[in-house]
Amino acid sequence: MGPPGAGKGTQAQRIADAYNIVQLSTGEMLRSAVAEGTEVGKKAKPIMERGDLVPDEIVVGIIDERFGSPDCANGFILDGFPRNTAQAEALDSVLEKRNMELDHVVELQVDDEALVERITGRFTCANCGEGYHDKFKRPQKPGVCDRCGHRKFTRRDDDTEATVRSRLEVYHRETAPLLAYYGAQSKVKSVDGMAEMDEVTRQIQAILGAP
Ligand code: AMP
Repeated sequence: MGPPGAGKGTQAQRIADAYNIVQLSTGEMLRSAVAEGTEVGKKAKPIMERGDLVPDEIVVGIIDERFGSPDCANGFILDGFPRNTAQAEALDSVLEKRNMELDHVVELQVDDEALVERITGRFTCANCGEGYHDKFKRPQKPGVCDRCGHRKFTRRDDDTEATVRSRLEVYHRETAPLLAYYGAQSKVKSVDGMAEMDEVTRQIQAILGAP
């Protein structure tokens, strides 16, 4: 868990690789649906552009369906879900139905002021998804992805300053209360999301234990 721009996607990808589990990002799934122009995508597009939450039944449905895939049998890391109490309750019942359990809830703590700068400058390789930033992490050779050599990059439509501010507001109002929800189950561990990226990964791995 953590506000937009805290590094959830980056860290989730690293943890998924290290522990050989799948990363389930509702934001990524919704962006694919928008790009493909599916019914879900058509519904989600304007909501995502405003920075609001897509209806619970849509995201819960996507996640529930995904849990049934064989690649989830070894475990998964949720990134961007649940985002409000209704989703957390739905997640509890979906997990119970499938005889699964949440082991940990990791919170990335980051100052709000840092987030706007982090988000409005970020971009990714269109081919391999490697993340970059105008100020903090430019490709070593301008215009060429360090990881795969591709030359096309993309920026998220909702990474504008106005949308970021509304996403932050939604996070504090709707999502942050989940820290108390999972805190009551003694599951929450907090990590300093302002630390250097590798250090954040180390702190998360210390919480999760050996892969
Ligand atoms: P993210 O990539 O996690 O920042 O998500 C991007 C956008 O997708 C959010 O601002 C929401 O509009 C939508 N979204 C992603 N996950 C959820 C969720 N669990 N519930 C509702 N909307 C979501």
